Amino acid sequence: MNAKIRLYVEHPLGAGQSVPLDRDQAHYLFGVMRQGVGDRVALFNGRDGEWLAEVATAGKRGGELTCAEQSKPLQLPPDLWLLFAPIKKTRTDFIVEKAAEMGASRIVPVQTEYTNSERIRQDRLQAHAVEAAEQCGGTYVPEVADLQKLSRLLDQWPEDRQLMFCDEAEVGAALRLSELGRGKPWAIVIGPEGGFSDAERKRLAALPQSHVVSLGPRILRADTAAVAALALWQQALGDWT
Ligand code: SAM
Repeated sequence: MNAKIRLYVEHPLGAGQSVPLDRDQAHYLFGVMRQGVGDRVALFNGRDGEWLAEVATAGKRGGELTCAEQSKPLQLPPDLWLLFAPIKKTRTDFIVEKAAEMGASRIVPVQTEYTNSERIRQDRLQAHAVEAAEQCGGTYVPEVADLQKLSRLLDQWPEDRQLMFCDEAEVGAALRLSELGRGKPWAIVIGPEGGFSDAERKRLAALPQSHVVSLGPRILRADTAAVAALALWQQALGDWT
């Protein structure tokens, strides 16, 4: 039986495992969703797959569930990082939510020369990734990293990780991603509203692992570009086919 409610918990899951609920989770399950003792919800923690669990005790300030059976094995997404320069808050939230739904394994906010937001609320963005995973039926939750300088990341770029460099200046740079072979670690990089600086563009294009990709003849907003690039990559090299 598929439980209609899915809840992410930071707790081991397994047959017979009892899982304590914190106040917020108890409020959501018992207050908002009107669940009670004997009802079943689907739990996942990003490591042990999804487990159907029965409400053993229910209260205002807490409760306890007991795992009955595994309803889904852990399904890891491809090893795909999304690097993006934070933009306005709601649009940054949108990028994180879509990246989690669309199967990025890690989400890395990067500071570029023209990025106009100096800081991000990593905990809030991580909560968006969790909510997206709860909603989309995923059993994995991508880590949202802390904001870091793109230049620093490139200084220590992992040897084996390919980079899909979405460059709005390269109209027509069609790249048949599918010819590049599956099973390798990849990353996508999307610039800020003001785009990449010339120095950044040069550096990104010069990276040996870099593959320049055009997302068409029109300039897309960064959030639109993130979704377009994720779709292109997943269709060509990811777990959509
Ligand atoms: N500098 C651009 C301009 O002149 O208005 C705006 C940059 S765009 C809003 C933000 C990012 O989305 C770009 O840095 C690029 O990574 C990506 N992007 C947008 N449109 C694109 C396109 N047609 N092809 C490739 N990347 C694109």
